[in-house]
Amino acid sequence: MAPNRPRPWLAGVSSTFAAIALLLCLASSAAATTGGAPTAAGAPAPSGSPTGTPASEAPSAGALSIVSAQTTPRKSFFYGVRYPSVRFSIGSSQQQNDLQIDVVNSAGEVVRSFYRNDVEPNVEVKIRWDGTTSEGRPARNGRYSFRIEAQGGTELAARASSSQSLSLGFALYGYAFPILGAHEFGMGAGRFGAARSGHTHEGQDTMAACGTPLIAARGGTVQYSGYQYAAGNYIVIDGKGTGFDFMYAHLAEPSPLKTGEAVRTGQPIGIVGDTGDAVGCHLHFEIWTAPGWYEGGSPIDPLPYLEKWDAYS
Ligand SMILES: [Zn+2]
Repeated sequence: MAPNRPRPWLAGVSSTFAAIALLLCLASSAAATTGGAPTAAGAPAPSGSPTGTPASEAPSAGALSIVSAQTTPRKSFFYGVRYPSVRFSIGSSQQQNDLQIDVVNSAGEVVRSFYRNDVEPNVEVKIRWDGTTSEGRPARNGRYSFRIEAQGGTELAARASSSQSLSLGFALYGYAFPILGAHEFGMGAGRFGAARSGHTHEGQDTMAACGTPLIAARGGTVQYSGYQYAAGNYIVIDGKGTGFDFMYAHLAEPSPLKTGEAVRTGQPIGIVGDTGDAVGCHLHFEIWTAPGWYEGGSPIDPLPYLEKWDAYS
């Protein structure tokens, strides 16, 4: 079967963060940092920091303290435009210090560890986490924090002179809600499984004004980007680390992304439109199970997923 063409009926109709709370002396404005939102189409792919290895000889560190630290963004997405990162510098009685930086989940479990050896006082260290566990799997949705400690030693104490407390935790999510604007989930004919002539509706329609920006709910690789008479301008993304494929239809203009391109979670993929066989401006969104869209998978009801993503986005 032609792998690059959606079935004609898809469009159809639409009616419609020291664990932990490293406590620091920082300006309160720093707490307002947010993130996760895309900044530009075709944003360069970030890369995670190398894990590093523990000191080969017995690890050594002086009497340590955190001089400064900041985590950004406060909200990020797996394989996203911006990875969660921490920048910090230490105070120490020793010139070279062997440190361990853990990513800790809300249950206090270490999900991933980084090692930095011979770290000098007052020299900024930056760690960027790619959202994967030490086993290489995508980490679960939830709250995380960076914990900084001496290798084989104890957690660093934040400098006690702090006049203000700040938790440097962050949230990581696997998916972003794809519509950046007001929207309403279609019911009735807009639902997955609604009757169409000779078939059923294989996606969920969500009403939004034409021109509303669309972002990738999950990054990965563009499996196909093109035009079809029923789907209009559409794009299919092979979701990184999932068996799912995600299809977005009726875009007002062709997606800036081309077939085969890498795309990050939360990266712009186009704008809402009504091209193809569409009544009114809306996003027609499909989720296909492994092995994917036109690769032997099956469409499933996207609405429960969309509602969940919408709730935290
Ligand atoms: Zn539809």
